[in-house]
Parts: sequence; structure tokens; C-alpha cells
Amino acid sequence: MGVITKKIKGTEDVLPKQSYRWQFVEDVMRKEAQVYGFKEIRTPVFEHTELFQRGVGQTTDVVQKEMYTFDTKGGESVTLRPEGTAGAARAVLEHSLENDGLPIKASYFVSCYRYEKPQAGRLREFHQFGVEEYGTQSPIADAEIICVAKSIFDRLGIKQLRLELNSIGCPECRSEYHKALREYFGSHKEELCETCNSRLEKNPMRILDCKSPICSKIAENAPKITDYLCDECKEHFAQVQKYLDVAGVEYIVNPTIVRGLDYYTKTVFEFVTDFIGAQGTVCGGGRYDGLIEELGGKHLPSLGFAMGIERLLMLMDKQGIEIPKPSSCDLYVATMGDKAKEKAFSLIKSVRDCGLIAETDVVGRGLRPQMKYADKIGAKFSIVLGDNEIEQNSAEVKNMTTGEKTTLALDETFADKFSVLQLTENEAFKI
Ligand code: ATP
Ligand code: MG
Repeated sequence: MGVITKKIKGTEDVLPKQSYRWQFVEDVMRKEAQVYGFKEIRTPVFEHTELFQRGVGQTTDVVQKEMYTFDTKGGESVTLRPEGTAGAARAVLEHSLENDGLPIKASYFVSCYRYEKPQAGRLREFHQFGVEEYGTQSPIADAEIICVAKSIFDRLGIKQLRLELNSIGCPECRSEYHKALREYFGSHKEELCETCNSRLEKNPMRILDCKSPICSKIAENAPKITDYLCDECKEHFAQVQKYLDVAGVEYIVNPTIVRGLDYYTKTVFEFVTDFIGAQGTVCGGGRYDGLIEELGGKHLPSLGFAMGIERLLMLMDKQGIEIPKPSSCDLYVATMGDKAKEKAFSLIKSVRDCGLIAETDVVGRGLRPQMKYADKIGAKFSIVLGDNEIEQNSAEVKNMTTGEKTTLALDETFADKFSVLQLTENEAFKI
């Protein structure tokens, strides 16, 4: 019989033999966020559509074309989150977190949903880790969140990841810049792709981000935002760079970076690699001073970043970074006969209670296949329990690597003694 259906296009399963890779990077992210003072926030996977749609101002592909939006049975329009920032901001407002003191520092792990064309590094369900910081104008905060991302990449051993930095200014300096862009791109109107033509009036900065070779060629000579920044934005950008220098974080100023969502102001940045093909942006972020007001709150300048976990794992794989495989079995207890089965079950319970991984046969295999299975799962030690062992109330614990055997009593001291034994052996290995 065939499986009645397969997974949805653009989604991926993480299988038990691969999940340790996810857990490893997630642990590093969680730890680093903690070190920098961020506490985890968890928000729902779906939200009222207006949280993402916010009036008519949204011009990005994510909001216009890629959202999974549907009506519920109750007639409400809901959307599967395409990103984590909006939900976190909503929760901050809804729970008046500003009353707990500023800044508010939150980190998150989210699954995201975007109706994109699936390809390497581009999925319809993908996962992000991110941080959000609310209630600070200070360029120190911009440098601080960049340091979080950088520390995570460093701890994971990732190499050759460029930090590209830009400032896209505030609404004031941007209106001058938009004028200059409209003028420049307007003179190339016939050559621009259809999408960019539609961007010309509403959001000409997005043309800078167009992937079409003709548009990106034209964009190369477009006016640069850095020449249009107002004094305040210019100073802010200089300070961000100063604090990155203080922290020893290297960056390249790239005036063509614009982010995929509309709410950014001032600082924007990306961590980019050439190792994983066209979808080389592993992390993107920046400042969004107007977002909280856009959602109906007071002025609460904020900033954050999100990194794609699938792309990060792909990059680690491409760079040959080994992720330590956790032990999958410390002790395998093989059995012959019903009495042995009972004894084995009580032994593994006591070993598991000590926090070690113990297994016994649960599929009814004979002795040889049990030992084969113990080998397959990489058991570090094994015991064979038969009538003799039960009678003598002791058994030989075999070190599966060295073949060395140690006799242990099968009584209430077993688990403790086994713990010591495996610890000593592990230590011996390290030397
Ligand atoms: P891109 O330019 O690659 O489409 P984006 O600007 O849409 O990225 P963000 O919305 O800033 O990306 O999301 C942050 C990160 O999430 C990206 O840098 C990337 O690592 C990851 N990401 C975004 N979209 C996808 C996707 N469809 N599949 C897998 N990862 C994604
Ligand atoms: Mg995108």
C-alpha cells in the first residue's frame, strides 16, 4: 500500500537521525541570546491578517504575494506568520511590556510560511531564530544585536561570512532619496522589468534589490542612499560603525542593501555567504523605529534580526563543519528468556534514572540480532542476560570498543556502579 499523501511542496521533515544538528545550533543560539540579555518570547503561528497587511502601505512581495491567508469557519481572515517580528511586536504592545522597563529584549524561534517558488535555500515552511530589542534609539543597540548574530556564527565555526551594512535613513531623508531614484530609474523605464516598473512610484528602493540581471546592472549606477542621509541619520550610522569597531566586528558598507520588509529605518544589515548559491543571505536585520507606532502603539524605536536555520545548516554542511553527534546508547541489555527480560527492564529503568541512555530488546529479536542492533545504534557497553546471570545475580558489562569486561552485581547498586564505570572509561578515552 502506498502512503496516502506526501509532504507539501516546499516543506521539509527533520528526521530523528538529523535532529541533533538542529538541537546543536538552537542550543548555541539560545545560549548566546541569554548571554546578551535576551529572553525568549513565543507567539502563535497565526495572527489576524491585518497585523501583517497594515493598511495599504505594504509594497513588499512577502506581504503582497507570499502570505498564506485564509478565512476561518468564523469568517475571520487569518495569516500564517511569514516572519517573527510582527507577532513579537504585537505581543509587546498587547501586554504593555514597556512597563517592565526599557529596553525590552526578546529572542524567538519561529516557523515561517511564505508562498515562494521552492528551490535550494528557499522553502515554503522555514525556520528562523531572531532577536528583537525595543525602546532604544542608541547605536549601541544596533551594534549589540549585530554582535549577537556574529557571536553565534563564530561559536558555530562558520567562516567567510560577510557582514554587509547600510543605513536607509529615516522617512525624511528617504523622501529626497526616493525623488532622486525615481528620476534615475525613470530615465531607464523601458529597460526595467515589469515588477520594477510598478515599484517606481510606490517604492523605488526595492528596485535596488531586483534579482533580474538588467535591473541590477542599471541599479549599479543609481544614486546611493548614503549621499542622502540627514545629519542625524548620518551620525547614527557613523556611531554604529564605531561600536562595531570597538567590538572588533568586521563589516563592509554596502549602500545597495534594502531589506525585504517595509518597516526598516536607519541601520540595515545582512550576513552573506557565497557558499550556498544564490540564496546566500543567512541573516538579515536592522532598525524599525516606526513599527510599533504603525501597530497602534506609542513611539518605541526598535530593532532586530532574523536568521534562517535551514540556510545556516546548509552553510555548515558546505563548509564541512562537524556537529558533535550525541551518544545514542550508553548500555544495551540483551536478553534470553522471560526472567532476563524482566530483570533487564528493571536494570534499564535504574540506569535511565541516572540520566544515562539504556536500551533493551522491545521487538522480540534473538540474541545475535540483538547484539547486531546494539552495534548498529553504537552502544558503548552491553550486557547479555540469560538464566546463568539471573541465578548468579551478576553479569559481565562489556566495553564495546575495547572488548574489556567488568563483572557487576545485578542488584540496587548496579546503576551507580555502571555510572562510575562508563565515566572512567570515557575519561580514559579522552586521554
Ligand atoms: P531573501 O532575500 O533571501 O528572500 P528575505 O529578505 O526575504 O530573504 P527575511 O525576511 O529578512 O529574508 O528573513 C531572514 C532570513 O530568513 C533570511 O536571511 C533567510 O536566511 C531566511 N529566509 C527567508 N526566506 C526564506 C525561505 N523562503 N526559505 C528559507 N529561508 C528563508
Ligand atoms: Mg524573500
